[in-house]
Amino acid sequence: MKDHILRASAADNEIRAFAISGKNLIEKAKGYHNLTPLASAALGRSLLGASMMGVMMKGEDDRLTLIFKGDGPINGVTVCADSKGIVKGYVGNPYVNMELNYLNKLDVGGAIGYGTLTVIKDLGLKEPYTSTINLTTSEVAEDLTYYFATSEQTPSAVALGVLVDTDCSIKQAGGFIIQLMPNASEKTIDILEENLKNITSITALLEEGLTTKDILNKVLENLNPVILDTINVDFVCDCSKERIENAIAAIGKNDLEEMINENKEVEVSCHFCNKKYTLSVDELKNLLNNK
Ligand SMILES: [Zn+2]
Repeated sequence: MKDHILRASAADNEIRAFAISGKNLIEKAKGYHNLTPLASAALGRSLLGASMMGVMMKGEDDRLTLIFKGDGPINGVTVCADSKGIVKGYVGNPYVNMELNYLNKLDVGGAIGYGTLTVIKDLGLKEPYTSTINLTTSEVAEDLTYYFATSEQTPSAVALGVLVDTDCSIKQAGGFIIQLMPNASEKTIDILEENLKNITSITALLEEGLTTKDILNKVLENLNPVILDTINVDFVCDCSKERIENAIAAIGKNDLEEMINENKEVEVSCHFCNKKYTLSVDELKNLLNNK
């Protein structure tokens, strides 16, 4: 099945909902970054969440960035998404490895550790919208729920799951975000809470073979869900030599001069996809002259 997001509404627009299937895009991320199973789970959950938050944005060129910064050994997780289903991301330490947690699951919370989540939305305005919250469990889904509640005043249920197989391939990956709109009635809230109580693990539902549509129908049972559209999602990096040059040009003049004095070409890799770019001494000199 192709990676995609289903967008839905329910209970006469008192609820908006998103469900994602994203096994292939996480497999792709794993290939770019050589991720351990734990790193696949942490980056994977973040990519799934960011993809759904991305398509919530209305503008064609709107961009979203999530930065998980914690004291755990993964050394941070950064993901970016646009409003059309394109997502990319990386972790500080792709080789991170830890014991399974007390639930016998990959310890994403431990890998990220205590710290903050920063959400940056570039909506084409003068200044991007930025909000930083403290991480709660650092398991990603709970942290996004907390972000929606505190920064966007939107009660939400977020579930994100990545199941890594014994051969390290991505076996299952999916999730949902269900949000109550300000006009939601008590009755709608009660039904939704009851439905959510019956969902213990998103990966278990995926293992049972439920599709995104099945999952939405289950979470939104008795709430008349209406599927609005399907958006394809993919991990794609938009790096280019020009972008890498701009990033190098942004460093201090002294640092740039130092690089030139070494009289060697410089190899720079893109954080998001590890593609390598080489800059000659002449190209570095050009960057310095244009400063
Ligand atoms: Zn790249």
